[in-house]
Amino acid sequence: MKYCSTRGGVEGLSFTDSLLMGLASDGGLLVPETIPDISNRIDELRGLDFVSLAQEIIALYADDIERDTLDQLIAEAYATFSHPDVVGWQQLGDVALLELFHGPTLAFKDVALQLLGRLFEYVLEQRGEHLNILGATSGDTGSAAIAGVRGQPNIDIFILYPNHKVSPLQELQMTTVADDNVHCVAVEGSFDDCQGLMKEIFADLEFKSQYQLGAVNSVNWARVMAQIVYYGYASLRAPTAPSFCVPTGNFGNVFAAYLARQMGFPIGRLLVATNENDILARFFECGVYARGDVHFTLSPAMDIQVASNFERFLYYYFEQDSARLAAFMAEFQNTGRASIGAPPASDSMLAVSINTEQTLAAIKHAYEQHNYVLDPHSAVGYAAAGLFAQRVDTPIVCVATAHPAKFPDAVQRAVPGVHARHPTLDALSGLTPRKQVIEPTLDAVKAVIEAGVE
Ligand SMILES: *Cc1c(COP(=O)(O)O)cnc(C)c1O
Repeated sequence: MKYCSTRGGVEGLSFTDSLLMGLASDGGLLVPETIPDISNRIDELRGLDFVSLAQEIIALYADDIERDTLDQLIAEAYATFSHPDVVGWQQLGDVALLELFHGPTLAFKDVALQLLGRLFEYVLEQRGEHLNILGATSGDTGSAAIAGVRGQPNIDIFILYPNHKVSPLQELQMTTVADDNVHCVAVEGSFDDCQGLMKEIFADLEFKSQYQLGAVNSVNWARVMAQIVYYGYASLRAPTAPSFCVPTGNFGNVFAAYLARQMGFPIGRLLVATNENDILARFFECGVYARGDVHFTLSPAMDIQVASNFERFLYYYFEQDSARLAAFMAEFQNTGRASIGAPPASDSMLAVSINTEQTLAAIKHAYEQHNYVLDPHSAVGYAAAGLFAQRVDTPIVCVATAHPAKFPDAVQRAVPGVHARHPTLDALSGLTPRKQVIEPTLDAVKAVIEAGVE
């Protein structure tokens, strides 16, 4: 499998090269040159457990790593999960819930990042190289990325996050990791500021190569790849082709669902659930992608206006026309607004925005009707599934993206008296946090990296 950039300036990369490149050097995102078709292997794949299915799917994309080695890295990555099937499955009335939060940091990001850390380690050792990972997090990516690479000799990791805008527990999950190769950087700004700074640094190719920078955000293709697996797995487990309802921020997770469907897994519609940061919901309604103000909500991992993975979706929507995509992105970059002229032609993807009141009501409903405690991100999806139910004639599977114990305050607000807890998080209190606070400028971030590397 070879990889190319959505903007047309990079092509013919191997999987391991694309793993290390992260963001494509022309500013676009890396995608596989073709999407493998598994539609004639459904019966064979249906019988597999999660890890075996992951090995089959990932081998199609990561074909420059020897198969035995790859299988072993995948098995090790998912051995860190506490659920025997890696992912959990719950039925809440008509809606099924696919629990993706049984990894070490209790959010779905572990599914990709436990594997990514091991892939990096393996490839760097093979090549005798060192990597400085730079990531921006709205909360969950940071701790999951840190958990994936902590203590690894060939990697330093720098995580930018908006100061005071991730939950206190999420911050502790990052800042209490004692390994020397972990650098937590609190930026006085929003998540979009952090992501913007990261993009600017990756665009500075001289700095990027001087400091051997790599990416763990969902701009990294390997993350999307790993996430395809659970959509395939769940689609084969449902009695008939399900539609997936996905609480969405950067569009990485729902884009993985899109690819699973393109590969031939039996999947109905894709239901995109956003919080009040509704740029995607507006796009699917009217075809205009227009930046709005960032709202800070109960689901901070989705407080994103500019969804980096949306570019990958548009690339396929534009039938892999890089010139058209590049023009669209340039217009958006310059004016904060770009349009495809009309609402998207297909209704295979639907989107809706869910407000705070609806989110709280969804947590309350799941608790009162099904004795199940949802985290506020999963609740956005669950609320959306309720709205979509009349428009969709397939079963709906909602993805549950975080354990409720990560967001105890939102749970308390929705269902007073219910304390969402988890031993992993209880163990954090009393540990000493370590962080640096910086202004949201390029120079400040570069200074942190330069100092950390020395
Ligand atoms: C990251 C995250 C999301 C959003 O996922 P995207 O891939 O950015 O769309 C949703 N919920 C939780 C808990 C997250 O951590």
